[in-house]
Amino acid sequence: MLYKSTRGNTEVVNSQQAVVKGLCDDGGLFVPVDFPNVKLDLDEMSKYSYKEVACKILEIFFGDFSKEEIKNIVDNSYDGKFSCEELVDVVKGGDGFFIELYHGPTSAFKDMALSVLPHLMIESSKKISGDKEIVILTATSGDTGKAALEGFSNVDGIKIVVYYPSEGVSQTQRLQMVSQEGNNVKVYGINGNFDDAQRAVKEIFVNKELREEMAQNNKAFSSANSINIGRLVPQIVYYIYSYLQLVNRKEISLGDKVNVVVPCGNFGNILAAYYGEKLGLPVNKFICASNTNKVLTDFFNTGVYDRNRDMDITISPSMDILVSSNLERYLYEISDNDENFVKSAMESLQKDGRYEVRPEHMEKMKKFYGGFCNDEDTLTAIKEMYNNNKYLMDTHTAVAYKVYEDYVKETGDKTKTLIASTASPYKFSEAVCKGLGIYEDGLTDDEMMDKLHEYTSVSIPKNLFELRNKKAIHNDVIDKSTIIENLKKYLELGE
Ligand SMILES: *Cc1c(COP(=O)(O)O)cnc(C)c1O
Repeated sequence: MLYKSTRGNTEVVNSQQAVVKGLCDDGGLFVPVDFPNVKLDLDEMSKYSYKEVACKILEIFFGDFSKEEIKNIVDNSYDGKFSCEELVDVVKGGDGFFIELYHGPTSAFKDMALSVLPHLMIESSKKISGDKEIVILTATSGDTGKAALEGFSNVDGIKIVVYYPSEGVSQTQRLQMVSQEGNNVKVYGINGNFDDAQRAVKEIFVNKELREEMAQNNKAFSSANSINIGRLVPQIVYYIYSYLQLVNRKEISLGDKVNVVVPCGNFGNILAAYYGEKLGLPVNKFICASNTNKVLTDFFNTGVYDRNRDMDITISPSMDILVSSNLERYLYEISDNDENFVKSAMESLQKDGRYEVRPEHMEKMKKFYGGFCNDEDTLTAIKEMYNNNKYLMDTHTAVAYKVYEDYVKETGDKTKTLIASTASPYKFSEAVCKGLGIYEDGLTDDEMMDKLHEYTSVSIPKNLFELRNKKAIHNDVIDKSTIIENLKKYLELGE
């Protein structure tokens, strides 16, 4: 299995190199040279456990590993780390089926892939780069950071540096990150928003001088963001698995199409569903839900991607993103692998903050529906879902549900629908309490969690409960202009 850049660079690497490198030298994203021409045998797979589905999918994309190696990676990734036996629960709520993706060690869906990535990376690195130290750089809108820290902490041969926007993550998200222990972890707050952090990290990747200096010191950068193909592939698994759960429960017959609703930020999660469709997952519509940072909604409705606008700080902070990196892989798809088109679109995004697709691309984009939801409607959705169905959603999932409701109102579509539920409501207790009408001024985060628990009886995930005994260790908040300087200091590189 070989990978190349979305932007037409001639560099071709195997899957292990793609995982270890994270991003292409030309700034493009790794995509398969030939997308696997595989149609999954869903009938056969309906009996599979989650981990068996995971092995099947990983084997397709990481063919440089043996089946046995893949099985070890999957076992080591998932065993004993999730609070529900099959890793995800598929739960009916209102008119949708929620894929609860937040039962992992940090209570967000990022755990589904970031439990796997460290193992993939270590095994890949052993095969290709010998004893080189890998330095993982991660920009986070809130959830990736903690999930990556948890996955990589105290792993030999790897250092991890996380950058979070100093304003724009929830209290709980921040404490999760700044309290991270481990001898190889570093966490910085960045004065700025997620896009600033993400851009700064991408600039480090394409900084040739720094890359060479790293190489001289026997180190190399990699990424734990969803631009890493090793993040994306494990996310395909739960769409296939959940679909098969609906079949097994006789909600649908094998082969029936479903809708897939995803609260989107960097466009990684929904892209994984799209890759799933290419492997044979029957999908009617991909519903891309945004908060008021609705660049994606506008993109699907007009064909113009335009980040020239102010970023709103919303109650669904993990989606406060104006540059959705993985959309680049989608552009590559809808343009029939037209690298020149992708390259020029990305150049114009860099230069003018916008780009436009062609009419023939718009035709292909009809498979997607884009919608958005503001904070007020998000809170109302949480309240109505809880009052009517006793089902508790976090703010991101509520955005998804509201956009799904709008879609149904607009189209009358009755297709059974899977909704990605991306975080535990307890990560966003303040907003969820406000939605339910039980918020009181002056409560600490712990008290709010307790209040939410008293009101709903939904149990507090252990990792979040234990935060009340944790202390902040990482107190650095830096300006984005000093990222490289600080990084060099941390890595003990010369000036
Ligand atoms: C990361 C995240 C998202 C957005 O997912 P993308 O793959 O970046 O589109 C949505 N909800 C939550 C809770 C997240 O952590």
